[in-house]
Amino acid sequence: MRPTGPLHLGHWVGVLQNWVELQNRHDCYFFVADWHALTTHYEEPGALADLTRAMACEWLAVGVDPERATLFVQSWVPQHAELHLILSMLTPLGWLERVPTYKEQQEALGDRDLATYGFLGYPVLMAADVLAYRARQVPVGQDQVAHLEVTREIARRFNFLYGRGPVFEHQLAHAKGQLAPADREAFEGLAKQYRESGGGTLREALDRLLDRMPWLGCEERMVLRAEACGTGREILPEPRPLLTHGAKLPGLDGRKMSKSYGNAIGLRDPESVVREKIRTMVTDPARVRRRDPGEPERCPVWRYHESFSPAATRDWVQTGCRSAGIGCLDCKERLLGYLVDALGPIRDRIEQWQDHPREVDEILRAGSAKAEREAQGTLSQVRAAVGLAGVR
Ligand code: SF4
Repeated sequence: MRPTGPLHLGHWVGVLQNWVELQNRHDCYFFVADWHALTTHYEEPGALADLTRAMACEWLAVGVDPERATLFVQSWVPQHAELHLILSMLTPLGWLERVPTYKEQQEALGDRDLATYGFLGYPVLMAADVLAYRARQVPVGQDQVAHLEVTREIARRFNFLYGRGPVFEHQLAHAKGQLAPADREAFEGLAKQYRESGGGTLREALDRLLDRMPWLGCEERMVLRAEACGTGREILPEPRPLLTHGAKLPGLDGRKMSKSYGNAIGLRDPESVVREKIRTMVTDPARVRRRDPGEPERCPVWRYHESFSPAATRDWVQTGCRSAGIGCLDCKERLLGYLVDALGPIRDRIEQWQDHPREVDEILRAGSAKAEREAQGTLSQVRAAVGLAGVR
């Protein structure tokens, strides 16, 4: 997440609630993407360090837990930059120019000069962010799947370029030597089928076969899979999107919530500000008078009820809105009760963390050190694969 300003309700509901849930089920790495912030905000770096810590406080306040997940700062792990550089060498220019958001962002941020090398290359930096950890899954919304596809293409190209050769052949011969004759025959049969017809079910059958052989090491499984699928050794695994279904809260004017549109409710907004913002928020445009029936599906306020109100209140809104039994002000007041209760403790915790900057720094330092160890393992393999082994 880029540290470009205070987080708002949309970040919490759409992203951070999901992180808090994911950290209980996966080995998660969450980072403050300060180098990414520079791709668009390179002319105003002054606040970057403060924004980095402020964002970490917000994460901690909503429940992202350093005991369960690794929290770190991108620029504190230099392996991201090194991998970015190496991947830049093999990424075709056309792939980057075709990224849909490249032109869109340039137009949307027309007040900034984004005709830069760094901005064009940000998908490569994103690829490095993911591939440095050999991440299997990346939590993304549907609109970010295309970005992850670039990462997958870069990983595929890297594996294709550097994943075969004498080392691979040697490892493959060794791995095949670990298979019992019947398993080897089954493996060759599946590999042949896979090469001839491909397909997900065959891959699953291959996985099941390999899983029946617990004595095989990680490397051996990797080369056997690569051989069966006709690819190179999977030095950089292709990450899959972990589609998240976090609610997308609209802004106060019904458009996407964004600080730059001035339509956001900040996690740090005082209660009085939250109340004023909700009271002036747009509603169903067809409901002009109190006696006009409304339609919650057309109303941004309803989307907030979906995220913050209990079932009984949601039923009350649905019935009351459609029958004109309730007014929009009643509806908003009821929402405010829940919203204010939800935001108050978060605001307090943000303040508490801000009062303990050393603890926050220590969390980020420890997380960055752990991330660096992980990334270093990948970089050793990457350097060897591209012929840089022995340089460090
Ligand atoms: S009653 Fe509630 S849901 Fe219906 S239009 Fe008004 S604010 Fe929206």
